Amino acid sequence: MIKKIEHIGIAVQDLGKSEQLFEKLLGKKPYKKEDIQSEAVTTSFFKVGDQKLELLHASSDDSPIKKFIDKRKEGVHHIALHVESIQKEVERLEPLGFEFISTTPKKGADNKMIVFLHPKTTNGVLVELCEEI
Ligand code: ZN
Repeated sequence: MIKKIEHIGIAVQDLGKSEQLFEKLLGKKPYKKEDIQSEAVTTSFFKVGDQKLELLHASSDDSPIKKFIDKRKEGVHHIALHVESIQKEVERLEPLGFEFISTTPKKGADNKMIVFLHPKTTNGVLVELCEEI
């Protein structure tokens, strides 16, 4: 079952500047900053009601976020859906024709296990499924 939009991920060039920008926009500070070594990304989270904005910054040159920015510039990178069970959603969505970048969940930011759907089967939008650990 898909519960809600959990967060929206935004790829940024300069994390410090973007944190200041979103601090001004939202009137609050990020509540969490986290390095995800496996993804070569530094994340910064803002709460917006029940949802979150996740700023994503490349922490190395081979980061997928650097590749994204080189190709498409800064902007919305992915939409994350909070699901009860990644396993069940993979079993539900694959027969419907959705493709996954990998169906093996890995540890994402903010205490979540995550998988990504391939944007070619989701109207060009990278969709993350996340499950509470
Ligand atoms: Zn995310």
